[in-house]
Amino acid sequence: MIEANETALRFGGFYKSDVIGKPFWKCPWWRLSPETQIQLKDAIKQASKGEFVRYQVDVAGKKDRVITIDFSLKPIIDETGRVYLLIPEGRDITERKIMEEKLEKAKEEAEEANKIKSQILSFVSHDFKNPLNSIIGYSQMLEQGNEGSLTQKQEKYIHNINTSANNLLVMVLNVLDAARIESGQIPFLPKEIEIEPLLEEIHETLAPIAQDTDVQVFLNKDKNVSKVIADPVHLKQIIYNLLSNGIKYNHSGGKVILTLSKPEERHCLVGQVHDTGIGISKENISKLFKQFYRVDSPTSRKTEGTGLGLPIVKKLVELQGGDIQVDSELGTGSTFTFTLPQDIAIEKNPDRPSPGEFLPDHPPKTAEY
Ligand code: ADP
Repeated sequence: MIEANETALRFGGFYKSDVIGKPFWKCPWWRLSPETQIQLKDAIKQASKGEFVRYQVDVAGKKDRVITIDFSLKPIIDETGRVYLLIPEGRDITERKIMEEKLEKAKEEAEEANKIKSQILSFVSHDFKNPLNSIIGYSQMLEQGNEGSLTQKQEKYIHNINTSANNLLVMVLNVLDAARIESGQIPFLPKEIEIEPLLEEIHETLAPIAQDTDVQVFLNKDKNVSKVIADPVHLKQIIYNLLSNGIKYNHSGGKVILTLSKPEERHCLVGQVHDTGIGISKENISKLFKQFYRVDSPTSRKTEGTGLGLPIVKKLVELQGGDIQVDSELGTGSTFTFTLPQDIAIEKNPDRPSPGEFLPDHPPKTAEY
């Protein structure tokens, strides 16, 4: 050791006489452990060959405080190419290290909490789904008169049970989907799909809700939209969620119109869901795609929902590389327009994996997945 500056001495609480003239690894900074000294000796050997050496190490500070430093050894080479001096430098990074460790711990805890939240949501939703399906099935059988005729009152009650259970099931499925999307467990399997049967399926599912609320649903498509490239489960859910909102947030006698088109000039599918419903104020439009957000209006207060339908739609549209826009006027109605690119690679083997394959820790979920 030829020289040490004031900062280095103050750092350890030493005097020059404690270090000058000693082998560097025997200086008191390195007294924490023999391993630290061996590591330094190796570093000196390496630097003596002309290499710049840098590593993080714990050293002894004042009053035996353990301090993590970012340490380096810089070789100084003379004109003959010989290393004649090594300049050691140490920067105290204890605070940074503690901060990094805290951040890492907080991140791990947040990820764990998120995983537990998703697992709870998945388990709870799954356990809700089966009894709900049974309530829906049995109440439907009673409503259809399969078990004998009902009085007018009984018919009304059983109809209410069936409608409520259906609403609850939609909510449970939304929570389940949102939990899965959040944990990246939604597969994206695009393929060429016939649009007509998909629309028929959606129409069939929505018909009872539309009838109950006295809202007319129109499903239109341009001639060139017989086949589209999309993940069928996602596309169905996107259209279904938008149409069911158009029905829910509408007036009796209102309309919801779906139009699917493929503009010549762009290689994409454009879906537009227009309704003549209650509309959304400019201020609320920007919040629509936030999870659990529901506009506080007399209609939405009356309407059951989770505030998850639109965030799910947005995520699914984006998963396919598309986007979604909203245009709305309070009291007049809304138009949701989504665009899905059609020039994406099709899955060669588009069979959906069974739930167990991508949800190893979970019991089987909805039939679709
Ligand atoms: P949910 O319908 O379950 O509440 P969404 O995420 O689908 O959740 O919608 C969020 C909110 O946006 C709804 O609560 C409603 O206030 C508003 N909204 C959605 N679609 C429409 C629409 N077509 N017309 C008016 N308001 C809408």
